[in-house]
Amino acid sequence: MKIHPLRIGRTKVPFGQFYGGLQGFSLGEFAADKDHFIWVPIHAYLIEHPTAGPVLVDTGISPDQAAHVDYYRGSIMEHVMDVDEYDLPSGQTMPEQLARLGYRPQDIRAVIVTHFHEDHIGALNLFGHAPVYLGAAEYAARDAKVLGLIPLAYPPSVAAVTDWRPIEFSGAAIGGFTGSADLFGDGSVLALPTPGHSPGSTSVLVDHRLLLTGDAMYTIHHLAVDQVRAFQPGEQARYVDSIRRIQWLRREFPELVILTAHDHTEYGARLIAGLAGGELSDADLAWGKSYERATFDELANLNPARLPRFVPAADGGPVGHAA
Ligand SMILES: [Zn+2]
Repeated sequence: MKIHPLRIGRTKVPFGQFYGGLQGFSLGEFAADKDHFIWVPIHAYLIEHPTAGPVLVDTGISPDQAAHVDYYRGSIMEHVMDVDEYDLPSGQTMPEQLARLGYRPQDIRAVIVTHFHEDHIGALNLFGHAPVYLGAAEYAARDAKVLGLIPLAYPPSVAAVTDWRPIEFSGAAIGGFTGSADLFGDGSVLALPTPGHSPGSTSVLVDHRLLLTGDAMYTIHHLAVDQVRAFQPGEQARYVDSIRRIQWLRREFPELVILTAHDHTEYGARLIAGLAGGELSDADLAWGKSYERATFDELANLNPARLPRFVPAADGGPVGHAA
C-alpha cells in the first residue's frame, strides 16, 4: 500500500517544548522563553488504501491559520499563538499537495486525526464530506480547555466535520499495546492508543511496517524517552508510557519505520523525502536501519553524540536550529 507524505508548511516551536522535557522547566519559564525557537516541518500523510480509498492522516495547517490574525481574532488563541507560528509557502497548501498526487479534497474518503492540536486539524474544513476517525478520549475531550483557557479543539477548525468516528481500542493486542483498532477491516491500518501529548493521541500502523505517530513522538530521537522528552506538563506519565509501548512494538517488528509529523532530523528528512513516490526503496530502508543502529542501543537509549542541542542563529536572533 502506498503512503505519501504531504508537506504542509512549517511551525516555529520553542526548543524547550520540543526537547526540554527533562530539564525541569516550569510552565512560566517555558512560556516566557522567546529566545530559543526552531522551525520544524508539518507533515500529513495520504494512504492509498485499496478499498477504503485515499485516506488522510492529519491535515496540517490552512492559509487562514498561517495568516493568523483574522482566523484567531477575538479568541484566546490570538494571544496564545505567536503571529509567526506558522509558515505556509505556496505549493504546500493541502489542496496543492493533494493535486501533486492527482487528488482533489473531495476525493478523500476518510480522515484519521492523530490529535486535536491546531497544526494537525487546520485543513479539516476541506473534508466535511468525510468520516473523521480519532481516539475516543480525544473526541470526549473536544470541548475541554487546556489550563482552563485554551480550547483543545479550536471550534472553527472542526466546525465542518459532521461524521465523527471515535475509535475504541477493543481489537487485538500488539507490541506493548493492550488494544488496537482495525480501521478498515483488513488489518492494514491499525490505530494504536498513544495518549500523553494530548488526551487521546493516536498513532497509525500501516501494513505493520510504518508507524505514523503524529506528535506522540516529535522525532525518532524521542524514542529515547529517558534522555529526550517533549515538555509535557500534567501528562508526562502517559506520554512516557506511550513511548515505551512504541519501543516494544519496534522490538517486535524490527523492520518498522517510525515517521512523525515534525521530524526535522536527518532521519526524518531523508525517509520522508524517500517516501515521496509512496514507497521506501530498499536503499532508504537500509539507510534508516543503519541510522537507527548508530543512534540507539538495543534498549532504545540514545548515543550521547546524538543528544539534541540548540544552536543559536549566527545573527543572534531568536530562531536557531537543533543539531
Ligand atoms: Zn504537531
